[in-house]
Amino acid sequence: MRLWIAKLPMKKYDEVIEYLLDLGFTDVIVGYNLGQVIAVKDRGMKAHFLVKPFRLTKDQIGRQYALEDPLGRRYIWNGMGCPNHPELRERSLKFIEEIMSGYEINGVVLDGVNFPSFTNGINTFTTCFCEHCENKAKEMGYDFKRMKGDVKGLLKEAYRLSEFLPIFTAFDYGIPPILSALIEYPGVIEWLSFRSACIVEYTKEMFNVISSFGRNVEYGAILFPPTLAWLIGQDYHQLSYYLDFIQPIIYRTGTSPSCLNFELYSLIGELLRLNRDLDEESVMRFVYSLFNVLHYNPPFDREELKEKGLSSEMLSYEYVAAKELVRERIPVYPRVEIGDEEIVTSIKNLKKQHLEGISITSYEAKLKSRLEEVVKIIKLTT
Ligand SMILES: [Zn+2]
Repeated sequence: MRLWIAKLPMKKYDEVIEYLLDLGFTDVIVGYNLGQVIAVKDRGMKAHFLVKPFRLTKDQIGRQYALEDPLGRRYIWNGMGCPNHPELRERSLKFIEEIMSGYEINGVVLDGVNFPSFTNGINTFTTCFCEHCENKAKEMGYDFKRMKGDVKGLLKEAYRLSEFLPIFTAFDYGIPPILSALIEYPGVIEWLSFRSACIVEYTKEMFNVISSFGRNVEYGAILFPPTLAWLIGQDYHQLSYYLDFIQPIIYRTGTSPSCLNFELYSLIGELLRLNRDLDEESVMRFVYSLFNVLHYNPPFDREELKEKGLSSEMLSYEYVAAKELVRERIPVYPRVEIGDEEIVTSIKNLKKQHLEGISITSYEAKLKSRLEEVVKIIKLTT
C-alpha cells in the first residue's frame, strides 16, 4: 500500500518528514524545493517532482499565451496558458531535463495538463481556437473550421437553454437528447477529441524526455475526476499508455477547479446567468442528469452545493470509474483532501474497492489527528 502526500511546509520540513515516515508514508510530491527532495530521499521515502507545464509566471501573463474561444475572445484560465503554445511546451520539457540532470528524483508528476473547465464560465471552457491550436489541428488532421463553427453553435445554444430543455425533460434525459445535439454539431465531438489528442501528445513528449535518461523514474499525473475528464482533454485510457500511475482528484467539496461540486456549481451558475427565464431547480436537475450525478445526492440549492458538496459515496464511484478507464493497467491512487470533514467515512468506503494506495493533497499541521485516523483505516488488513 503506497501512501502519498504533497505540499509539505517550504521550510522547517525535517520534523514533518520524520513524522510522515513514522506514520508509514512512502511517497512525497515535491514542488520546486530541491532541499526537500534531498531530505525526503535521505529518510528513505520517494521524492516525486511536481510539474505544472502550462502555468504562467507573473511576467508571462499576457495575450500571447491566452486561450481563444470561437468568437475570438481570449482568456487566461486558472493562471494557465494554451496547452498548444510551443514556448510553454518546450520550456516545461527543458525544465524537467534540467531537474533530472541535476537531481536523482524518483518520479515526475504532471498537474494541470488540461484545457479549461467550467470554473471561469462557459466562454473560457469553449477554447481553444488560437493560431497554435489551428496549426496543431491541421497537423493532426482535424477540421479546425468545423470544430470552431460547431463549438460556436453549441455555445449559442447555451444562451437559450429554455428552448431545448423541454427535449431533455421529454426524454427524461439519457442518450437520445444528447445525440440529437451532437448530430446537429458534430464538430463538438471532434473538438473534444482534439483536446484529448493534444494532451496525450504532450504527455508522450514528456514521457520521451524522462525515458531518455534511462533511469528508473516513475511518471504519473494528477487528473480531473473521471466524470469531467473527457471535457477538458484528459482521456484516462489513452493517457494510461504513457503513465506509470494516475491520481484522480476526487474531492466532494471545495471551491477550486477540478472539485466536482464546484465545477457543477460553476456550470449551473453560468447557465442561470445566461438564461434568466429559468429557475434554479430545473437548471440543477438538467446539469445533474447530464452528468449522471444524481446518485451522489447533490443538493438542489446552489449555495449548498458549493458549501456542503456531494455525498461521500462519490469518491468510491469516481475511483472505480478511474480504474475501469485505465483497465487496471496502471495503479490508481485517489487524491483526497484531509480537510474534508467526511474523509474518514469516504476512506472506509474506498477501502472496499481494493485500494493500492492513496494520495493526500496536502500536509496540514492542525489536522494531524485526522491524518492519523485515515492512515490507520488504510493500513487495516480487513
Ligand atoms: Zn490554443
